[in-house]
Amino acid sequence: MPLPEPIVALTAALTKLPGVGPRSAERIALHLVQAETAQVQHLAQTILMARERIRFCETCGALTEKSPCSTCTDDRRDAAIVCVVERAVDILSIEKSGSFRGKFHVLGGKISPLDGVEPNDLRIGELEKRLTTEPIKEIIIALGTDVEGDATSSYLAKRLARAGLKISRIGFGLPAGSGLEFADELTLDRALEGRREMI
Ligand SMILES: [Zn+2]
Repeated sequence: MPLPEPIVALTAALTKLPGVGPRSAERIALHLVQAETAQVQHLAQTILMARERIRFCETCGALTEKSPCSTCTDDRRDAAIVCVVERAVDILSIEKSGSFRGKFHVLGGKISPLDGVEPNDLRIGELEKRLTTEPIKEIIIALGTDVEGDATSSYLAKRLARAGLKISRIGFGLPAGSGLEFADELTLDRALEGRREMI
C-alpha cells in the first residue's frame, strides 16, 4: 500500500534539508504525522520565527537578528584585523577556537568557474568598501584548503593588495582539501597562529 500523498509530500520536502537522506526524511515525516498537533505547531512556528528574525549582517555577512551585528559593533574587538571566511557558519568555528579577537567578513562562497561562481557573486566589493571606511591593517584569509580555496585566496590577495595592508592566510595544520568545519578548536587556533603572509 502506497503512503498517503501528504506523507509523501512532507518526505519530499524534508529530503531537501542538508544531511537528511530519503530514509531519515521518511522517518521524520512518519513521526510528525503521528505526533501531538501542538508539538508540530510549535516546531512549525519556531522554524518560521527563526527564518523571519535572522538575516545577514550588511557589514560582515554574519547571521544576525540586528544589522550591523554584535561582532561588528563590539568595541572590544580589534578593528584592525579582519578574518575572511567562506560562509557565515565558519565564524562559529573560529569563535570556538577562542583565540581570534578581530572582526569578520563572509565572502558567501568561493570562486568556482565550474559551478558558475565568479568573483562578482562574492562579497568582495563589500570588503573593499570596508578597507576604505574601517581602520583595517591586516586581512587573514581563512578559506578551506581545496582547489577553490587556493584560487580564491590568491585572487583576493592580488585584488586587495594596497600599501600598509598585510594579507595572510591560515593553513598550517588544516587537513588538505577540507573546510573549516572539519578542524577542531586546537587546530584552528594553531592555523591562525601560524598564518603566513601572502603579500
Ligand atoms: Zn557584522
